[in-house]
Amino acid sequence: MNDVKSSIASVRSMRSGAQYLDSIRADGRKVYLDGEAVSDVTTHPALRGAARSIARLYDVAADPANAELMTFTSPKGSPALRCYHIPKTPVDLAARRGLSTRWAEESFGLMGRTPDHVAGFLAGYAAKPSVFAEAGQQYADNVVRYYEHARDNHLYLSYAIVPPQIDRSKPAHKQSDPTLHAGVVKERDDGIVLKGAQQLGTGAVFSDAIYISCIHPLTPGDEAYAFAVAVPANAPGVKIFPRRSYASGAPSSFDYPLSSRFDELDALIVLDEVFVPWENVFCYRNLQLCRDQWWRTPSHSYGNHQAQIRYSVKLRFLLGLTKRLVEITGVDAMPPVQIQLGEMAAFATIVDSMVKAQESQATVDAEGTVWPSKAALYAVMALQSEINPRLLDTARELAGGSIIMLPSSLKDFESPEIAAQIERYIASPGFPARERVAVLKLVWDLIGTEFAGRHEQYEKFYGGASFLVKQNMARTYDFAAATKMVDRALSLPAEN
Ligand SMILES: Cc1cc2nc3c(=O)[nH]c(=O)nc-3n(C[C@H](O)[C@H](O)[C@H](O)COP(=O)(O)OP(=O)(O)OC[C@H]3O[C@@H](n4cnc5c(N)ncnc54)[C@H](O)[C@@H]3O)c2cc1C
Repeated sequence: MNDVKSSIASVRSMRSGAQYLDSIRADGRKVYLDGEAVSDVTTHPALRGAARSIARLYDVAADPANAELMTFTSPKGSPALRCYHIPKTPVDLAARRGLSTRWAEESFGLMGRTPDHVAGFLAGYAAKPSVFAEAGQQYADNVVRYYEHARDNHLYLSYAIVPPQIDRSKPAHKQSDPTLHAGVVKERDDGIVLKGAQQLGTGAVFSDAIYISCIHPLTPGDEAYAFAVAVPANAPGVKIFPRRSYASGAPSSFDYPLSSRFDELDALIVLDEVFVPWENVFCYRNLQLCRDQWWRTPSHSYGNHQAQIRYSVKLRFLLGLTKRLVEITGVDAMPPVQIQLGEMAAFATIVDSMVKAQESQATVDAEGTVWPSKAALYAVMALQSEINPRLLDTARELAGGSIIMLPSSLKDFESPEIAAQIERYIASPGFPARERVAVLKLVWDLIGTEFAGRHEQYEKFYGGASFLVKQNMARTYDFAAATKMVDRALSLPAEN
């Protein structure tokens, strides 16, 4: 009886999908799509599919059957999402993977900035308040308090931490207008005022709040741009300009099974004189802290541990679909096809194993915080820009024209004039036409549609341009151990 009661209490204190949707419904957020302000992102035809998918994540986490997998008990004694847990052991890190895997499976790895992504960053900051305290104790207090607020309220944060491209040859303060990149334009007794834009707020349309800062290198003179804040997505002056919604062109979820459900949208975040109270300011006019927040805390590692877990799930889905595809076209037993499948499987296994290596090779710092192995993390991230297109290309090779030669839409199956011929010519042995078409439309939405093209760009750039990730790798790799071997080779005694 007690167990039942406690599980009901735990459900109540988690956030359900309906509660999430209610909280972002018509809350005054300024989202502009096709030149018009969206009055409700949860019901707009181009947005509701993704909103529902995110709501589903909250339902999965609130399901008492998933309590162990998805939640931990916060220091305040209430259940919280595992993505907000600050890991103290590699087992804790693996437990974070449990939540992220389960959530990624809901979208087949196709929603990148689910609530566990930025939650990882916040957990990373809260794990190392000492880094923020170097700039002033108030920043450490603020970041810990905000983390607790987000954790205790199961918040979904997105982030925009890269300045708009405009002119990459010049630092922020030397742009043609100093308020192009998001920066501080006014200091008040009660907080600061921000103006300018920051990219590329994936999920911002649907999030509760947006973390805004700068991960790009800043130079002396850029102090106004060296800040970190969290702002509610509906804060006055916050304007969210998403790109085209790929769900808007999807006539049905049969024809576009992924675009219609999982387009989380990417957005330019425009700050039109946005006031941020001091308590939500974590870094202010401080070049050093603005940089250190990413690299001297485990934030970047926790956030991208999630990104790699999600990518691993997506590859599993790609492998499953490619296997089904070759079964449909009847080439699956051919040795050359098996070799191609084997290569794909090798890459998928490497990515999955490297996620686990981040945990098995994790280190514990002096304050007892676990850091995933950066070498294992950046090794895959650095190569993802090359691995991913190669995998997609193999899937395309194996697909031939199957993913093109499809009925124009579900309606063809309902046409008395052509349905019988569609059924006759588009079926394969063991795969009736409708089932075959459903699989092939999934493949096309994963590798060929506009949604798929955006995904290819996402995998290249979500963690920054690959030249930057390779620089991270170069900084991380143990070159000292490698060059020591060279020295030993050079010092070998001469032999005749
Ligand atoms: C779909 C998608 C979703 C994203 N989601 C988010 C998000 O939610 N939040 C967020 O903050 N960011 C997000 N990002 C990442 C981010 O905003 C940037 O796209 C990413 O950091 C790369 O920066 P950039 O686009 O300005 O490219 P740039 O920095 O302009 O680089 C573009 C290219 O120019 C060349 N180049 C530029 N500078 C140099 C240099 N110094 N040396 C050599 N070559 C150079 C390289 O070829 C590089 O690949 C996302 C990106 C994409 C594509």
